[in-house]
Amino acid sequence: NSFDDVDLGEGLSENIKRCKYVKPTPIQKHAIPIALAGRDLMACAQTGSGKTAAFCFPIISGILRSKQPNSDMGLFSGSRIAHPLALILSPTRELSCQIHEEAKKFAYQTGVKVAVAYGGAPISQQLRNLECGVDILVATPGRLVDMIERARVSLSSIKFLALDEADRMLDMGFEPQIRRIVEQMDMPSPGVRQTMLFSATFPDVIQRLAADFLSDYIFLSV
Ligand code: AMP
Repeated sequence: NSFDDVDLGEGLSENIKRCKYVKPTPIQKHAIPIALAGRDLMACAQTGSGKTAAFCFPIISGILRSKQPNSDMGLFSGSRIAHPLALILSPTRELSCQIHEEAKKFAYQTGVKVAVAYGGAPISQQLRNLECGVDILVATPGRLVDMIERARVSLSSIKFLALDEADRMLDMGFEPQIRRIVEQMDMPSPGVRQTMLFSATFPDVIQRLAADFLSDYIFLSV
């Protein structure tokens, strides 16, 4: 019943305290241990349930555990293609910006870099931000497809994928973009990826997405 019950790593734990999170919300209490164990997850979660932290904490913790965060991008490789390790897809600019702001607080001084990409705003500044290196990319589907087509983002290094408000993304007609994005993650060859899908409702289209994108997943309803 405390964030100290799970091993999230020192830097992240300090940031959680700094954010004044003391007690996990129900979704956090159940989703975080499952995600830390490396399992795929489909979770029923409403706005305000604390779902942002539920997927951000395991992602940040996993990046810190697995490797040094991305610092090479653009510096050594001479490449302008960003290779994020984690992707968080969300339906709108507003939600993407909110997630980005929260994720930056959680990743503060850990070396994990967070960037955001959304439509309806000039792409140039967003592309420049990516050139500084990015471990966690928060994006709306359409803008991300644009960046992939411009060869400015590669998803070949993705280890964590979170789909936030998946039902809303499908309602907005993003299914083709989402499918294209996930296909990109398996190029040039399928990698090992952990996927977390969050949705408020579970119609057939969401069940199909889960069947296609998740493997051996745990369904969580709190
Ligand atoms: P979310 O559902 O992720 O949009 O979170 C809703 C609000 O609750 C946000 O303002 C979070 O910062 C806050 N929040 C999330 N989890 C916790 C927690 N465990 N303790 C205190 N506040 C939290």
